[in-house]
Amino acid sequence: AKELGVNKFKVFNKAMHEKAMQNLLIETEIRQGLPEDEFIPYFQPIYCLQTKRLAGFEALVRWNHPERGFITPEHIIPIAEETGLIVKLDRLMLLKACREFSKWVSTYPSVRDMFLTVNLSPCQLSKPDLADAILDVLNETNFPSDMLKLEITESAIMERNAASTFNLKRIGEMGIKLAVDDFGTGYSSLSQLQRFPASTVKIDRSFISRMAEDHESLEIVRAVNALGHSLSMDVIAEGVETRQQLILLKEIGCDCVQGFYFDKPQPAEVAVQLVKMRSEG
Ligand code: C2E
Ligand code: CA
Ligand code: CA
Ligand code: CA
Repeated sequence: AKELGVNKFKVFNKAMHEKAMQNLLIETEIRQGLPEDEFIPYFQPIYCLQTKRLAGFEALVRWNHPERGFITPEHIIPIAEETGLIVKLDRLMLLKACREFSKWVSTYPSVRDMFLTVNLSPCQLSKPDLADAILDVLNETNFPSDMLKLEITESAIMERNAASTFNLKRIGEMGIKLAVDDFGTGYSSLSQLQRFPASTVKIDRSFISRMAEDHESLEIVRAVNALGHSLSMDVIAEGVETRQQLILLKEIGCDCVQGFYFDKPQPAEVAVQLVKMRSEG
């Protein structure tokens, strides 16, 4: 038994070591890839339920790795967050997404009422230079600040400090909007949500994916939608995959929907075609 214990420990150690080595490799590669233009934003359409029109896009990072091909965020974000590289990565995504979107708006001025949402890692809110960095991007890309929405996960709205309060104030003054992402998965209180200056709440995919089969999930979606509306927020349902979910969300009175039922995240050249179509009809 003793021997087994030792072996187990060895195996555990080896696995941990391999994992650490792999993370180190990825970290190095992220660091190298950042200036090399390997990270690009994909755009997932968000639709307004009432008008059935394209309302905006969420920018989601993709890593075009020189040897390993396309890599999705689940393999990037955790390591980037652990190593602090996320700050650079998020800001690069903001820059690239705004640059792209700016082109679309100047080509198709009638889509000026759309929005672009960009994810911000929770740690960003405490960076003293966040507001200035965003302002630089807006100026550099000539991006209308009222078209920008920053997504911050529910868990991050609970950690308020002097820096984050300052950032939120300045972001608001610039006319940028905020969305609470993955709502329902954190443990924020009603008063924390009320105090957070967001204009949008996004219901987490886990509830949407269960709502057609599971009564409790359906009631949670209903409750979050009502809560959002009572705080004068727009409500976006994420991860809509079926027609049945869509019908339920319409009946509930949700404002916007996003999910594979409509579109997957798409490269800019595909997304712009949707913008063009909307501008024509
Ligand atoms: P998220 O912010 O909740 O983004 C939505 C994720 O759900 C995206 O995954 C999207 O592709 C996926 N999704 C959308 N609709 C459906 C659907 O109908 N079914 C299913 N199964 N999935 C759907 P993705 O692109 O892999 O991103 C995963 C997460 O990585 C994001 O979750 C976000 O937390 C993070 N992330 C992505 N890009 C960035 C970024 O630039 N910065 C930061 N800080 N985080 C990012
Ligand atoms: Ca998001
Ligand atoms: Ca989300
Ligand atoms: Ca999520």
